[in-house]
Amino acid sequence: MTGTKQIVTLPGDGLGPEVMAEALKILGWFNQHFGTKLETSEGDLGGCSIDKHGVPLSDATLDKCRKADAILLAAVGGPKWDKVDYAIRPEAGLLKLRKELELFANLRPAKVFDALVDASTLKASVVKGLDIMIVRELTGGVYFGEPRGITTLPDGQRRGVNTQVYTTNEIIRVARVAFELARKRGNKVCSAEKANVMESGKLWREEVTRLHEAEYKDVTLSHMYADNCAMQLLRNPAQFDVIVTDNLFGDILSDEAAMLTGSLGMLPSASLGAIKSDGKRAALYEPIHGSAPDIAGKGIANPLATILSVAMMFRYSFDMHKEAQLLEDSIEAVLAKGYRTADIMSDGAKKLSTSDMGAALLETLSAAKQKAA
Ligand code: NAD
Repeated sequence: MTGTKQIVTLPGDGLGPEVMAEALKILGWFNQHFGTKLETSEGDLGGCSIDKHGVPLSDATLDKCRKADAILLAAVGGPKWDKVDYAIRPEAGLLKLRKELELFANLRPAKVFDALVDASTLKASVVKGLDIMIVRELTGGVYFGEPRGITTLPDGQRRGVNTQVYTTNEIIRVARVAFELARKRGNKVCSAEKANVMESGKLWREEVTRLHEAEYKDVTLSHMYADNCAMQLLRNPAQFDVIVTDNLFGDILSDEAAMLTGSLGMLPSASLGAIKSDGKRAALYEPIHGSAPDIAGKGIANPLATILSVAMMFRYSFDMHKEAQLLEDSIEAVLAKGYRTADIMSDGAKKLSTSDMGAALLETLSAAKQKAA
């Protein structure tokens, strides 16, 4: 990493500020011990922004995010804002942020840590060592396609319409992200669609194949119908390395893959934009869990998904691969020592608060650094 990196932090609502506080300590540790220059500045997103500014994403915060090298979000939403106008609900701020920054590629790793293998509802023999990356197209497809809406027919029935639509460029840019990622992992991409029954799926398959032939022949490409992919994820998830798929199928398959790991508090994500002419790309990193109002303020939230999002930021925005690996290995080591937050607690383990988990990780990082010196 060269130069100073500006990170906008968005703690958001509920448990957000609690888990963000631990992520900030980790960033501080790397500045102190690795000479990185990671500068943070906080912004408001979600319910806290509605309270302060009347909208879930203010122009000032959006502008700040546009200028940042990366954005780290904790979580937004909660019952306090259940009754606000739908257009300005907390989640609308997050959707606007993704849309304004054109974050079209959503990366959702599903990794099973050895120490947590029993947290999965699947047999340990099926999920042990699991490490899948799902790349979901995030800004196109049926969630955005036109026409859409609900109309009343002449006979009084109502009719709901959504349109699944993809263009060549939308498919190619997300497939490119998947192929590039695969080259740095297991070198395999499985593309999932419904080419057997949907024209948009047929186009998806043709464009992914064409891109593969032209630029990524060194990567092993397979195609799978999305319904079969859903079954294979349960039957034999270890067959997958990178899965690339559209917005709708990605929504479902990435949640299914997440549940293979059995622990919501452990799962990070990244949403990336296109690489611009100056080499930079917009990037938002966030845990996949929500604001957990049921446990917010109790100091028992698991901060590791947010901290693993920091590891993704190191890897995908700052090319800090060594630091990312150290952070991920240290999390594995903390779990191997039997330290757990309440959500991943198991017999014989030591239950830690949010801040104690952060402290245990800092201690482990420092020990690993000392050992390496
Ligand atoms: P949730 O992910 O907040 O919580 C689901 C369950 O998992 C709860 O029992 C919670 O206590 C637990 N949990 C979640 N994160 C945890 C953590 N880090 N450590 C320990 N336990 C954790 O989902 P929900 O209850 O459906 O939603 C709550 C609010 O969050 C809603 O307002 C929802 O709209 C919002 N939400 C926001 C995001 C986001 O910010 N990206 C994502 C999902 C939900």
